[in-house]
Amino acid sequence: MQKIVILGGGESGVGTAILAKKMNYEVFVSDFGAIKGNYKAILVENDIAFEEGKHTEATILEADVLMKSPGIPESVPIVVLALKKGISVISEIEFTAKYCKATIVGITGSNGKTTTTLLTHHVLSKAGLDVRVAGNIGTSFAAQVATSETENYILELSSFQLDGVVDFAPHIAVITNISPDHLDRYNDDFMEYVASKFRITKNQTAKDYLIYDGDDSVINSWLATHKIRPQLLPFSLEKEVSQGAFLKGQELFIKLNKEEVIMNIKTLALQGKHNIKNAMAATMVAKLMKVRKQTIRESLEDFEGVEHRLEAVKHVRGVSYMNDSKATNVNATYYALDCMKSPTVWIVGGVDKGNDYFDLMPLVREKVKAIVCLGVDNVKIKETFGNVVDLIVETLGAEEAVKVAAKIAEKGDIVLLSPCCASFDLFENYEDRGNKFKNAVRNL
Ligand code: ADP
Repeated sequence: MQKIVILGGGESGVGTAILAKKMNYEVFVSDFGAIKGNYKAILVENDIAFEEGKHTEATILEADVLMKSPGIPESVPIVVLALKKGISVISEIEFTAKYCKATIVGITGSNGKTTTTLLTHHVLSKAGLDVRVAGNIGTSFAAQVATSETENYILELSSFQLDGVVDFAPHIAVITNISPDHLDRYNDDFMEYVASKFRITKNQTAKDYLIYDGDDSVINSWLATHKIRPQLLPFSLEKEVSQGAFLKGQELFIKLNKEEVIMNIKTLALQGKHNIKNAMAATMVAKLMKVRKQTIRESLEDFEGVEHRLEAVKHVRGVSYMNDSKATNVNATYYALDCMKSPTVWIVGGVDKGNDYFDLMPLVREKVKAIVCLGVDNVKIKETFGNVVDLIVETLGAEEAVKVAAKIAEKGDIVLLSPCCASFDLFENYEDRGNKFKNAVRNL
């Protein structure tokens, strides 16, 4: 009997444990922290051995395979020891894909993964395909494969999930874009992070596809210097492409083989340049999966959007409030500010992952009338924008931030929460930040 040790007893780890047990592995789950009650109950119910609050070296190093949950860096001592001993260290995605017969669409990138994944799912399910989402979203891929069968999976894949890839090969891969993020996990080396994203293409063949942002210089320079096998389908807002998607005036064109889909971007449910790109990616996946043009058009028109991603909350006394709490890096906020059509009171701040605010300068100069800082340490924001924005106020909670923003904003203005930063200094996570912001707006 093969022995698998699973590091981390969260969604990914417990899902893998269930699948591995079903596939007749001897399973042991080890978590250095505490395992949440609901996950512990599943382990007990399935008679799966586990430990918490420690990693027992002797037991772990007996493994034939080690599944490392995505939250655990490769540099933790137990993983270093396992690698030294020659144990194969893989991700949940790698382990699960072996037991999954469905067609797989893998979506990665620095921003837009969730939106593109859910939009693609919306289009494919509207077309009547048997399709599920998994990966970095909802119920783990492993748990779903263990308990049900589906013809198609759309997987949202973070770079951490791709790091543990050996043989995994999606039929269709999407790279939405690549900009600096999570560099703390990649030795502050951007190229390591880029390489991690491109692992999505590692095992693809000439019968597979890579859909990617053809305007992204990081992606283009990687493609110019590395040979990969899948057929390339770029999408672009800037230039026409012979195969792929592009924008011409107000029309979005998709060209695949001899087929063409044309849509007016005004009818898209999600607005903003970034969402045109997301729509292009989703449409190309749908075309490759033979969805009819009419269904694609209808589903791009009635997609409701995703919470905390440039979400319109409410109008209060003529001021419009937008929740973009998921914008945890500069690139995401860039697109949010780019969408703003009125003077904007910008709520920003939190835990900065090494932000370079330079790219935002022109947009801030043009659109931002005041900054409300929502973070513990706002020195960098004050220093960077102090000469560009007249009014900068510091706050320490969502309610206070909203009240201050409401005082500053005038009829016709927008109040935008797009923090550019992680949320851990003042909130549990970005959802908590977004929800507190929305509650505060509703209480105005
Ligand atoms: P991810 O899952 O990659 O974090 P999300 O879809 O959750 O991406 O969006 C995260 C943030 O990035 C949101 O603020 C959203 O408005 C913004 N965003 C969405 N799509 C894109 C894109 N294609 N390029 C840049 N930013 C985007």
